[in-house]
Amino acid sequence: MTVGVLALQGDYDAHSRCLQELGASVALVRQPGQLDDVSALVIPGGESSVLLKLLGRDQFWEKLQVFVHNKPCFGTCAGAILLASEVENPEQSCLGAMDIRIQRNAYGRQMQSAIHQVDTVLGGDPMEMVFIRAPRVTRVGAKVEILASHQGDPVWLRQGEIMVATFHPELSKDRRVHAEFLRGMG
Ligand code: GLN
Repeated sequence: MTVGVLALQGDYDAHSRCLQELGASVALVRQPGQLDDVSALVIPGGESSVLLKLLGRDQFWEKLQVFVHNKPCFGTCAGAILLASEVENPEQSCLGAMDIRIQRNAYGRQMQSAIHQVDTVLGGDPMEMVFIRAPRVTRVGAKVEILASHQGDPVWLRQGEIMVATFHPELSKDRRVHAEFLRGMG
């Protein structure tokens, strides 16, 4: 079973290393056809508007749309924005894989870059979470499970096989988020 990491833009290398550390076989996905060779996909952070542009070729967006509705996917930050069902600030296209509304760049300067220790449903030690120009989840659908919240805002969520984080777990040493994704793949 190979986990794909969308490698068009952003910090895909760090995600790839995290997954490999956990023993997963990883393939970087740069062409739409490569989606046929992976059984799950990580969509990294970066700039969602840029990712949208880069996905606008060779039916990449259309192929990704089918993929995210059928296979386990994990989006961090910009990746979470792409997987949402509604995006604001500004409105932009999204894949609708998770029933959430999300606001881009929602925290202004205070969360340009911030590190917080946050409790999660996993229990144990709080998790270090790195936020970089983070989005805020402003609506959570009934089928969405909140795995962690920070100051009242959900920051780690799951709906079926889809998981999103508004922070960057690939930038911390804690591997529990990636491990949780791999565990969810079965
Ligand atoms: N601000 C970016 C966006 O709106 C997301 C930031 C990130 O991925 N670190 O797409």
